[in-house]
Amino acid sequence: MMQDNHSIIIAIDGYSSSGKSSMARQLAKTIGYRYIDSGAMYRAVTLYAMRHDLIDADGTVNTAGVINALPDIKIDFDVNGDSQSTVLNGENVEREIRTLAVSNHVSPIAAIPEVRHALVKMQQAMGKRKGIVMDGRDIGTVVFPDAEMKVFCDASADERARRRVAELQAKGEAVTFEEVLENVKKRDYIDENRAESPLRCAEDAVRLDNSSMSIPEQNQWLLNLYNSILSKG
Ligand code: C5P
Repeated sequence: MMQDNHSIIIAIDGYSSSGKSSMARQLAKTIGYRYIDSGAMYRAVTLYAMRHDLIDADGTVNTAGVINALPDIKIDFDVNGDSQSTVLNGENVEREIRTLAVSNHVSPIAAIPEVRHALVKMQQAMGKRKGIVMDGRDIGTVVFPDAEMKVFCDASADERARRRVAELQAKGEAVTFEEVLENVKKRDYIDENRAESPLRCAEDAVRLDNSSMSIPEQNQWLLNLYNSILSKG
């Protein structure tokens, strides 16, 4: 039974660059919830591994090295008005974790069970008091299987790559459509096929294919869903 509008957990999962983060962030802002980008946490662990030579040039991960380093990796979010930055061991790494270099290594790191267990534990602690919107790959299936609202987002791989190219280019990173499309498809494959909590649509999630929706349309769709769930509470 929902007591007030701060009593629910909202889980938004889906494929990479499916627009889930911007939708989730906007909903959290509109309804006054905390927003957590769980992908940023996997990206921060990846950046740490890259900086500590735990990933070879050919992409091979020193799995034991990453697992041993987990107690030394502290991830926080620094909220400043509307913007939120990922902080790794006291350093703002928001910009660096969004590069294609990090995107190219993140899925193998996120497939390591010990990494997942450590981050899932942190994510569950963040949702203890509810009033949270969290986006990722396993939020509705593993992190918060009892979340009151679950959404699973998808869009065509081409459309997702186009969005990611625009985002990276806006930040000044020179990338081609082909390399981004390859990264999007590769991450989909690894995320869906890993043994530990693979990317799946939760049985009770509402599916959204936003390939041909504008950003305001997606935001409105999500807000409508939230209102309808709240009114049924
Ligand atoms: O959401 P984003 O694209 O930033 O996530 C980066 C990567 O982190 C994903 O491709 C996936 O491998 C991993 N991830 C995950 N579980 C989550 C969030 C992200 O495995 N909950």
